[in-house]
Amino acid sequence: MNQIHHYLGGSVAQGESSRFAPVYNPATGEQSAQVVLATANETREAIRLAQEAFAQWSRVSPLKRARILFRFKELVEANADELARLISSEHGKVLSDAKGELTRGLEVVEFACGIPHLLKGEHSLNVGTGVDSYSLMQPLGVCAGISPFNFPAMVPMWMFPISLACGNTFIMKPSEKDPSTPMRLAELLGEAGLPDGVFNVVNGDKESVDVLLTDERVQAVSFVGSTPIAEYIYATASAHGKRVQALGGAKNHMVIMPDADLDQAVGALMGAAYGSAGERCMAISVAVPVGEETAERLREKLVVELDKLRVGPGQVDGPDNDMGPLVTREHLKKVLGYIQVGVDEGAELVVDGREARIEGAGNGYFVGGTLFDRVKPGMRIHREEIFGPVLCIARVPSFDAAVTMINDHEYGNGTAIFTRDGDAARQFCEQIQVGMVGVNVPIPVPMAFHSFGGWKRSLFGPLHMHGPDGVRFYTRMKTVTQRWPSGIREETNHFTMPTH
Ligand code: NAD
Repeated sequence: MNQIHHYLGGSVAQGESSRFAPVYNPATGEQSAQVVLATANETREAIRLAQEAFAQWSRVSPLKRARILFRFKELVEANADELARLISSEHGKVLSDAKGELTRGLEVVEFACGIPHLLKGEHSLNVGTGVDSYSLMQPLGVCAGISPFNFPAMVPMWMFPISLACGNTFIMKPSEKDPSTPMRLAELLGEAGLPDGVFNVVNGDKESVDVLLTDERVQAVSFVGSTPIAEYIYATASAHGKRVQALGGAKNHMVIMPDADLDQAVGALMGAAYGSAGERCMAISVAVPVGEETAERLREKLVVELDKLRVGPGQVDGPDNDMGPLVTREHLKKVLGYIQVGVDEGAELVVDGREARIEGAGNGYFVGGTLFDRVKPGMRIHREEIFGPVLCIARVPSFDAAVTMINDHEYGNGTAIFTRDGDAARQFCEQIQVGMVGVNVPIPVPMAFHSFGGWKRSLFGPLHMHGPDGVRFYTRMKTVTQRWPSGIREETNHFTMPTH
């Protein structure tokens, strides 16, 4: 059985633990590897290596740090086909989606390559007579990242490029469901010239995570995953004096106004609801048509499009499927369970993905695209994150009712409005209690030079990921106030603060 270990101090390190987790190929249902789950001691060893490497790395010029990231970017590009296959073989997503996630990750690397500019800080001349003040943005030390299964390349790349560029060392704890891609990224960082110990991968579960949350040598924790775990990470790591950004789950609504271009809205919804089998934190899982007529037209068009949805293995000869399998059998069971919950709660099951005929499905974890109508707030399929290819239509009579439904929801990650009316769009952007908003854009993931994060129970901690918030998160500011009384020039010999 192929075993996946750790990456410590610049090379693959054999795991000692006798605890393992299985890694599957979701398209076939076969186990492809087992990942060795790190012990607490192995995790402490990773922290020691990262701490040791910090002394040198933090003093390397930002320009040189950026040059290593430039080389890393070239290597990821050169190996994009292999990486996309690796992602698809453990996650299940189709190759075009896997390449898409690599591109989004690389955009953060490109942003991090501008680090000399981003670390310039602030400067004020003459805050007193002959006195200047300036800020230094300095690295924190050892940082840790804990990532979910659904973006094994992109989410780690939201974190480590900026952290490393700022001069920190890093320990990545990937999802145990698809750990091979982060391991490969670690090797490519090494090939790019990153010194040993600056980036480490510890494969594990709660045992290793708990060490990262509590060990006093770890300064900051970035987390992306489900809300209950995000909340636990935030509470535990901040109680241990660390800065934390913990991104959680989502239930994203898309409002379709009566004046929207419906063909565009339906095209957007198909990609946003069913792409990557709905396993995206920015997936649209609730369509909110305003008015009965909009709802009827929307439903009719969605049914036609769902009939054309190509579901099948992520890696096929010829054109990609639209959507691959779910990540594990357990997750498939959960999603199938939610479809039954929806039926039992009285929502109208318009298209039942359980009945889809899927070519080449074998023992893979497949379910077809599913559509519910007449879903109401309060139903579990509206309240809870399903994280599968299940789209709910929740009809509302007015724009205000749509806004209320979204604002009353526990999650506030992403949302969108489709309309031709600038005033409605403007009002939506202002009133909506959600962190990322799209206007005629279904999945409004901010570009790397903006920051990514939700509101409410979709994010714990004040700072979002990547972009300017990423740089703030991975640096601490020091403000220097200085004067140089030379004894020669009379006017600077007297210390007068602030300004008289
Ligand atoms: P998860 O919460 O189960 O796991 C995330 C990480 O936490 C993994 O590395 C896992 O090993 C670790 N973990 C799990 N249980 C733990 C525990 N008890 N103690 C310590 N660590 C633990 O999430 P997942 O199923 O891998 O990913 C899907 C979830 O991630 C969805 O809820 C999705 O919305 C969310 N997500 C959010 C965003 C965002 O930006 N907000 C992005 C991607 C995914």
